[in-house]
Amino acid sequence: MGSPSPLLPRHAGSAMVVGGPTTVLDLGGLRIVSDPTFDAPGPHGYLTKTEGPAVTEDRLGDVDVVLVSHDNHADNFDDRGRAFALAAPLLLTTTSGAARLGSPAKGLAAWDTHSLRRPDGGELTVTAVPAVHGPEDGERDPDGDVNCQVIGFVLAGDGLPTVYISGDNASIRTVTEIARRIPGIAAAVLHAGAARVPGKFRERPVSLDSVRAAAAAAVLGAPVNIPAHYTGWAHFTEGREAIEHAFDDAGLTPVLAIADHGTWLPLTP
Ligand SMILES: [Zn+2]
Repeated sequence: MGSPSPLLPRHAGSAMVVGGPTTVLDLGGLRIVSDPTFDAPGPHGYLTKTEGPAVTEDRLGDVDVVLVSHDNHADNFDDRGRAFALAAPLLLTTTSGAARLGSPAKGLAAWDTHSLRRPDGGELTVTAVPAVHGPEDGERDPDGDVNCQVIGFVLAGDGLPTVYISGDNASIRTVTEIARRIPGIAAAVLHAGAARVPGKFRERPVSLDSVRAAAAAAVLGAPVNIPAHYTGWAHFTEGREAIEHAFDDAGLTPVLAIADHGTWLPLTP
């Protein structure tokens, strides 16, 4: 009989990429998990997972809110990630995703907000922000979305660093709009990895590639940029080395926060 895995202690003001896009953020006394994926490696339809999570969901303890940029793709929302999200007290996602998922999902359109009470008495406001899941000229679905409906998130509250989580977004134009409308973003979790899907958009990236991740960091002006979504799935075509190289080329190594998955990274320098 195995002993239960130890719970992951709280680490205030920090984020940890646990694998793929999946990031744990401890902010304002809340534990937040974005794009949960916890399956073991293996096939998921047309996608193949190549690495399991550095931290399994049973170790996360009580989670306050799960953020799902889109529920449509297994690399952002796999089977165990789905079970985990549906067991959380609150799941924030797209409007179409919330309709598919049901309780406890709440749908947000871009620029909608949802506020959570913090244990310290303040509030954390989650703002849904736009994301474009492919090239700017990518074929649009009947709802006008490239690939599918996707949102990113900005987390903000008194005394807290403002944190942007990109979701699957390939558009620097969109990052620029977010930076303009929400000044003072202190930390960004950027879905990099240049995900490319055979037969889709001529295999052009559906997430940030390394150069665009560095460009996003430049546009945001955030002192902390945490790449996620760059390893763990076969369709991610650029990894840690490429990201480090691109940030170095841009002269932005000081604002790059990257470490092995399962490592806490401070959200303020
Ligand atoms: Zn996707």
